[in-house]
Amino acid sequence: MAKTSPFNPARVRMRARELAPGVQGVFADDVEEKDHTATNAGFVIGESGVLVVESLSNGRLASQLIGEIRKNTALPIRYLVNTSYHGDHCFGNFVFPQETTIIEHEFTKGFIDENFEEDRNFMIELLGEGRGVEEVVPRSANLTLTEGITLDLGTRKAEILHIGFAQTEGDLIVRLPEENIVFAGNMLQAPSPAFPWLLDGRPREAVETYHLLHDMLDDETIIVPGHGRPMCRSDIRYSIEYIEDLVGQIEGTLGQGLTLEQAQEEIRMERYSGYSMYEFIHFQVNIPAVYNEVS
Ligand SMILES: [Zn+2]
Repeated sequence: MAKTSPFNPARVRMRARELAPGVQGVFADDVEEKDHTATNAGFVIGESGVLVVESLSNGRLASQLIGEIRKNTALPIRYLVNTSYHGDHCFGNFVFPQETTIIEHEFTKGFIDENFEEDRNFMIELLGEGRGVEEVVPRSANLTLTEGITLDLGTRKAEILHIGFAQTEGDLIVRLPEENIVFAGNMLQAPSPAFPWLLDGRPREAVETYHLLHDMLDDETIIVPGHGRPMCRSDIRYSIEYIEDLVGQIEGTLGQGLTLEQAQEEIRMERYSGYSMYEFIHFQVNIPAVYNEVS
């Protein structure tokens, strides 16, 4: 599979942006100009410690994230949540203090513990050589969950939830009910024109999970996606429509007896072609994933 790096983790600059008092999203500095940027992170300052969401792709970016936290508080980093096993969300774990409790879905921890070397090679191929991924030291969760937990941060609460499969078996979201903010991880890549990356297939389950997420939120909820500027719940419709269109087209294709290669030639779906990752993700990832599953 020809891979395309959507960002260079050796160059990215991360900047914190206040979403509510004590709650910051941490975004690449080109997040307003691009439709797909380096992985987002965030942090929540409680009474006695900090909860961090994601550790990013390498030690350098994790250190930048910790630097952004330190501009705002000297409190200890008590929790770090990885929303999936994808290296761009968890490869910075090793830079965090030993006393930080790392939280993952049980599947995510199992995946990292069993597949780290292979997955690091995949990430080097995706993000490029000499960009800090070679130096990553494996570190997985010391607290796992399968459904959800609520963390009491003193002045505020954070819910860590697995609401269903969207991109990986272990997708987690971090929800702050009082502040009405959700860190959604790669479950949502970015607002349109970005659409889902169906790396592990299961499109119908993903659609169900999107509906669940949509119905949990309201029109004022601030959603921090995996890779782009903050979005609102009506933006979730676009991801649902993309998957439903794709499944419908592939079902039609199979009815005509087309091979995968023919499907990749024919299923253009021009409405979605404005996304910078369209050629790679639509044709090389999503069409094969859905074709293999539907057929
Ligand atoms: Zn990601």
